[in-house]
Amino acid sequence: MKIAMIGTGYVGLVSGVCFSDFGHEVVCVDNNPAKIDELQAGRVPIYEPGLEALMNQNVAAGRLSFTGDLAEAVQGTEAVFIAVGTPTRRGDGHADLTYVMAAAEQVAQVATGPLVIVTKSTVPIGTNRQVQAVVAAANPDLDFDVASNPEFLREGAAIEDFMKPDRVVVGVQSPRAAEIMSEIYRPLYLRDFPIIVTDLESAEMIKYAANAFLATKITFINEIAALCEKLGADIKQVSKGMGMDQRIGKHFLHAGPGYGGSCFPKDTRALARIGQENACPMQITEAVIKINDEVKRRMVEKLHMLCDGSFNGKKVAVLGVTFKPNTDDMRDAPALTIIPALVGGGAQVRVNDPQGQREGEALLPGVLWLDSPYRAAEDADLLVILTEWNEFRALDLKRIASSMTHPRLADLRNIYNGTVASEAGFEAYESIGRAGLS
Ligand code: NAD
Repeated sequence: MKIAMIGTGYVGLVSGVCFSDFGHEVVCVDNNPAKIDELQAGRVPIYEPGLEALMNQNVAAGRLSFTGDLAEAVQGTEAVFIAVGTPTRRGDGHADLTYVMAAAEQVAQVATGPLVIVTKSTVPIGTNRQVQAVVAAANPDLDFDVASNPEFLREGAAIEDFMKPDRVVVGVQSPRAAEIMSEIYRPLYLRDFPIIVTDLESAEMIKYAANAFLATKITFINEIAALCEKLGADIKQVSKGMGMDQRIGKHFLHAGPGYGGSCFPKDTRALARIGQENACPMQITEAVIKINDEVKRRMVEKLHMLCDGSFNGKKVAVLGVTFKPNTDDMRDAPALTIIPALVGGGAQVRVNDPQGQREGEALLPGVLWLDSPYRAAEDADLLVILTEWNEFRALDLKRIASSMTHPRLADLRNIYNGTVASEAGFEAYESIGRAGLS
């Protein structure tokens, strides 16, 4: 099957590479010439483990190519995927569909058909019908179908998630589109990964409902963690005890500094907006958004307390700025709330992140980037662990504590504990939902 993938970001590039690995002939297109130059040179412009090797393997096999020319990419394809960004629209929380609609119109102008136009981007309910209308208006003679195929991969584990999904969701309104979609995903179907075929609206809704539910689970445990701190309970034990109940499940029950990233913040905002527009307020989701903002603010208060009530003149070392490990993605990361509060309060902030510097430099002005966690911690008054990269899970805490002016640790991912910190020589230790030094 010949496939075109519009957008070579975290979703489009992974999907394009994996489809080519299934054996399809894939052309990936992006309107950012710098990205296409990198890809044509065999380099992946983002950090995603395993992606570059798999990409180059499929390029060498002649199944995968890159172009900036949409007309060339769409030529002769049976399926065109739209995997462009749908960020929050400025001002009202709605998903910004400008890029999706522009891509749909561009496809309409150059496609000869018959083909299926598949929206992989996360889009509000009703968008696929809008895509259909836009394409039909731009090219009334085009023989085409639309399909909704929301993506559930996680950055940092994207290839594994794409190749071994819990399920593939496909929304269609014609047997022809269902047939083409099942042909595309046949390699997964043969390996027993379920494909659920729905109408367009249900597929669009599944994606928002799933993300809002996961954001709710994280926020719920963060709220329980705050109460644990007041009452002397230990959130790690509480999460474990809750998660062993199969009706609840152990995933997404780790307390932390609030959810961030390229999906949960924008998708919860968009769902809340969709509810408001349809006179059906999403009250739980609205509460989750508000509480998550409070969680991030509470983190700043924790750090403030550890700095004796003032950031002014303090040296603060921060380990990790990306919204989670194994990605360089900084979109809506908690670091973007916490670090500016430190800098704004007069702290000298020293940062180390295994992959975050390239993105982070522009987003976090006024911080000093160091190439190791140990160098970042030297002479610091406070060490903050903000992202649980593997590199930060087995630090030589003794070495770090002895190099700091005031050995104090804010472990916002609960990697260590009070006993370990105290034995290493830290005079103060704060984590989430647990007692401090013991
Ligand atoms: P991204 O911003 O990383 O990538 C989008 C790419 O599309 C960019 O490279 C941009 O240059 C390109 N683009 C935009 N308009 C174009 C056009 N007209 N022609 C060609 N290229 C164009 O975005 P992303 O993180 O990959 O997300 C894409 C979509 O997938 C979003 O709707 C997102 O919500 C959804 N999603 C993302 C993830 C994730 O983990 N990032 C997971 C599931 C779903």
